[in-house]
Amino acid sequence: MTDYSRVLQNLEFINISTDKFSIFEWKPPRSFKSFILDLNIVKQNPISNIFFHIFKGNMKIVHIRLKNIIYTAGSNNEVQFQLLEALIERVSVVFNEIYDIESYIKYDNFSTTILSPFKEEVDNIINQFNSLNSVMDLKVPCMVCNTVLPVIVKRSFIENAESFPVPLVYNHKGHAILCFIDKNYDIRGVELVNVTG
Ligand SMILES: [Zn+2]
Repeated sequence: MTDYSRVLQNLEFINISTDKFSIFEWKPPRSFKSFILDLNIVKQNPISNIFFHIFKGNMKIVHIRLKNIIYTAGSNNEVQFQLLEALIERVSVVFNEIYDIESYIKYDNFSTTILSPFKEEVDNIINQFNSLNSVMDLKVPCMVCNTVLPVIVKRSFIENAESFPVPLVYNHKGHAILCFIDKNYDIRGVELVNVTG
């Protein structure tokens, strides 16, 4: 099994914000990078409950708006989007368990310093990621490269699916494969698909 805590060493940041301002930020030790421009773009997206992916140079950024809060994670290209989504899902659950954030943000004089201890919770989530059992490692053949690719899938994606097999697109080095995954995480088919956009 992949050591996800190790993969997540490639994280650049985790940000939690309202429409107006950041209320929490986690970065790896000794990181002084700023992602304020990326976060400004993220905040302009009004759509809720859907994960959005941004490719930016050698970075991947994933964000989702849940009620009045926007959760964002950024990493280098070593981390698959499904792993970043699973991480954000876990971060949002723990954050809302600890803080009644929807109430806090109604107050104008709300101080974000009360959220600083959440950094330790993020460290815990990263360090214990394998034991959370929130993702699966699948092996998917790519007919273009003639290799078997390690594909990470969120358990919540499979478990909340309305019908099976569920389709998942893997963007692989300039081409894309579409794989069909059944409820037992078996690959039921792989196709080469054309992509536009
Ligand atoms: Zn390939």
